[in-house]
Amino acid sequence: MLLEFGRHGSNVALGLLLLVAVVMVLSGVWPLHVWLFLLGGLLFFASEYTYHRYAFHAPPVTRIPFILKLQHRLHYDHHTDPNRLDLLFLPL
Ligand SMILES: [Zn+2]
Repeated sequence: MLLEFGRHGSNVALGLLLLVAVVMVLSGVWPLHVWLFLLGGLLFFASEYTYHRYAFHAPPVTRIPFILKLQHRLHYDHHTDPNRLDLLFLPL
């Protein structure tokens, strides 16, 4: 399961961004401050909740098929079949 998690395209992209950030911190290009970790954690949880609550659970836009299909792919289908990992993560 962990291997499957690591193979998903969006997780690979996030992993690469994390690797770039670590290299930048270790090389001194990007100074490391503890308060930035705390701020990043707070912003992450606030944005995660807000997106989930208001964007991913917005009422279905049935008059625009493309938007409705996007809503299903981005989140509705995840609640229909929560065990499918490919629906758990956002597509690239
Ligand atoms: Zn949800």
